[in-house]
Amino acid sequence: MTKWVYSFGDGHAEGAADLKDLLGGKGANLAEMSNLGLPVPPGFTITTELCTAYYAADHTYPDELAAQVDAALQQIEDTAGAKFGDPANPLLVSVRSGARASMPGMMDTVLNLGLNDITVEGLASLSGDARFAYDSYRRFIQMYSDVVLDVDHYLFEDLLDQHKDVAGLTLDTDLGVDDWKELVGQFKALVQTELGRSFPTDPAEQLWGAVGAVFGSWRNNRANTYRRLHNIPEEWGTAVNIQAMVFGNMGDDSATGVTFTRNPTTGENVIYGEYLINAQGEDVVAGIRTPQHLSKSARVEAGDDLPSMEEVLPETYAELSTIMHDLEAHYRDMQDIEFTVQSGKLWMLQTRSGKRTAPAALKIAVDMANEGVIDRDEALLRIDAESLDQLLHPTLDPQAPKKVLTTGLPASPGAASGIVVFDADEAERASHDGHSVILVRIETSPEDIHGMHASKGILTCRGGMTSHAAVVARGMGRPCVSGAGSLSIDYAARTLKIGSTTIKGGDTITIDGSTGEVMLGTVKTIDPKMSEDFNTLMEWADATRRMIVRTNAETPADARTAREYGAQGIGLCRTEHMFFESDRISAVREMILAENEADRRKALAKILPMQRQDFVELFGIMQGLPVTIRLLDPPLHEFLPKSEEELAETAKQAGVSVATIRNRANELHEFNPMLGHRGCRLGISYPEIYEMQAQAIFEATVAVKEATGETVVPEIMIPLVGSRRELDILKARIDGVATDLGIAPDSGAYIVGTMIELPRAALMAGDIAETAEFFSFGTNDLTQTTFGLSRDDSASFLEDYIRHGIFTRDPFVTIDREGVGELMKMAVERGRSVRKNLKLGICGEHGGDPDSIQFCEDIGLDYVSCSPYRVPIARLAAAQAVINNRDDR
Ligand code: ADP
Ligand code: MG
Ligand code: MG
Repeated sequence: MTKWVYSFGDGHAEGAADLKDLLGGKGANLAEMSNLGLPVPPGFTITTELCTAYYAADHTYPDELAAQVDAALQQIEDTAGAKFGDPANPLLVSVRSGARASMPGMMDTVLNLGLNDITVEGLASLSGDARFAYDSYRRFIQMYSDVVLDVDHYLFEDLLDQHKDVAGLTLDTDLGVDDWKELVGQFKALVQTELGRSFPTDPAEQLWGAVGAVFGSWRNNRANTYRRLHNIPEEWGTAVNIQAMVFGNMGDDSATGVTFTRNPTTGENVIYGEYLINAQGEDVVAGIRTPQHLSKSARVEAGDDLPSMEEVLPETYAELSTIMHDLEAHYRDMQDIEFTVQSGKLWMLQTRSGKRTAPAALKIAVDMANEGVIDRDEALLRIDAESLDQLLHPTLDPQAPKKVLTTGLPASPGAASGIVVFDADEAERASHDGHSVILVRIETSPEDIHGMHASKGILTCRGGMTSHAAVVARGMGRPCVSGAGSLSIDYAARTLKIGSTTIKGGDTITIDGSTGEVMLGTVKTIDPKMSEDFNTLMEWADATRRMIVRTNAETPADARTAREYGAQGIGLCRTEHMFFESDRISAVREMILAENEADRRKALAKILPMQRQDFVELFGIMQGLPVTIRLLDPPLHEFLPKSEEELAETAKQAGVSVATIRNRANELHEFNPMLGHRGCRLGISYPEIYEMQAQAIFEATVAVKEATGETVVPEIMIPLVGSRRELDILKARIDGVATDLGIAPDSGAYIVGTMIELPRAALMAGDIAETAEFFSFGTNDLTQTTFGLSRDDSASFLEDYIRHGIFTRDPFVTIDREGVGELMKMAVERGRSVRKNLKLGICGEHGGDPDSIQFCEDIGLDYVSCSPYRVPIARLAAAQAVINNRDDR
């Protein structure tokens, strides 16, 4: 026979903490606390399996359930010394739902179940307190009607308010026994009117009604939605806990409260809790009365007059603090605890690992490791690597009032306020004039980079989490909200409409890139601080990880930031970003417009010194750490002017007509630029471009050597290679440039390698490794080309793909291990079989994603490279990957 019911209380239990799947979180921990000998009111748990069976059997219970429940109820009666439904000595119970994962949206708890017109009198004479008995009774009718019978809560509140008005009373505690008696009558009448039947008086009927409501609530709309959003499987089911009532509303030596064993906001190791004298259940969180501090020190610090529990009930408080300490030590984690005091006696009603902010999580993990409660591996695993992001960006002050206009995608974390600007040049000017700027665009493109850099934040109405705006903003550490579809931007009128609100250029808005919220005006933010704990945790991570963490950076500012965050080199320096700088874009355009090689070389000669200077600066900042430089990658037309104004200016500078430029632009037009004349294909067609870049790199190493004595071994990376031949040709030219400068090829003074970003490159990796000295997985393009899916266009149907279970996650955020990952694995194996010391890294966006970093560890890459602000995340995730792969985990 299946065991559906597990008893607990009185110093032992049939369940335990490790039966969470079967008993739900609440039930398992009530059992565990009973086993620990803590004062837990006796009760029993009906298992989650019963929930599943109930649905499988078309909302009916298995036959043997009733007998098991009766037996368990009998056990409660014996322990509590009271009898369910007994007129003189009635047992009252609570009915509490409890799934494996905490799940708001399910049935609320029903307290004081078992009361009716007869048992209430028994309770009154037993407790010698008729007021208490009738207060409990009216609470029961109210709760039961609300959660089981579906009669709205506010209808009862209305009656209560009316009664107070008429009687001239303000607080619930002012009401006497006669007031509650009268209200009980009114409440019952209300149920009769609302439902056309009377409130159930039979305790057994009440009990089964409540149990049915819990199981029924597992599949209500709210619960279904919550489960979908949080990936909680429907098969899990919920448990039901039935437990003897203890009363916090029995007078001034009774109370109820909630407490954390440490401060969940800061992580500080102090008791952090609230309580209310003469109250029950949800009163503490309901906000009807102001809860009081638990500890005296917290009360004093807050400057509060209402006495703390430590002062009012010192002995009970002392017992509670001991139990809190023990529970934390037992579970080896910060606990969130619910308790009640009945006539001076303490009862424990719930414990679980408490939710905490990112800074608190960090502090608690480090403190607990230092206290010897957990080891360092455990401390490292306890931090959600992704959450470190919150620590490195300004966040909205949670206390600050805000008016949210709309919500887009949380594309790049952090909050920022500034004036609305619709164009990149204007953003640069306004920022130059000392304004904080939010750049608002329909979408962004490479030409907007300078404006994005000048802005405090970026807001777009199109594009997903991997749109240009999102990727670049994350790289720069700028907060960004992308794809805010309800926004309509009118560039000409310089207005932004959100619903009925029209915002003009120059008006102030605030964006929160961590939540996607867009707000009117300035909302106060809090600056990040890198705490001591942060540094400690990072040290532990560095001592544990195997993979090197590099950064993707091309500007000196980014390179410096990355160094501060612990980057050990540059894994991707995209040289095209250097081409967009305002002082050189015209020379670049000249180069593109050139009709022949000689003219092209002339233009390139103008770019050479600037490019060389870029590298000198970068090498200087990286102080001998490895730097991977990717030669020019995007199609040339991206550099051509777009607006009429720019077109005219370029024509003037280049001494050609506007028509000539238009013609050239038409020539360069491609149907599918992503798969067009770009990457190494440019190098094949225009040898002089890559030659100039190689020369700039080599001359910079020489200059740095002379200036600082530091030896830089540049890693020259060729993009979009699909065959060894491409690489052979281009490497020979690079070697030629080196030779001309007196640097011997293959002397170790520089190395040449390739991106692996085409499926063919992965397939031909063995061949390519004959020439390439390193591989860097460009997983953005590799994902695009493997799926045949454009990341700029996939946002519009990504949701559909996730909803249908085709994608479990956005493959541009987390590596698709089965497909793209398989290609990577193959490339690693084939490459290494040809060249044992082949250096392997990743430089796509995935290099900063914890799950993808785990995969990189699994396939044995040497390093990951990510945007500067994700460097700490990568350091931690790389350490976690090592720990996860240990045999004993
Ligand atoms: P939630 O999951 O919403 O926290 P609970 O089942 O923990 O719901 O119940 C909420 C509150 O009701 C508890 O914190 C406690 O104050 C009160 N409560 C629940 N069961 C009992 C009980 N047996 N005796 C006294 N109070 C109870
Ligand atoms: Mg609770
Ligand atoms: Mg690429």
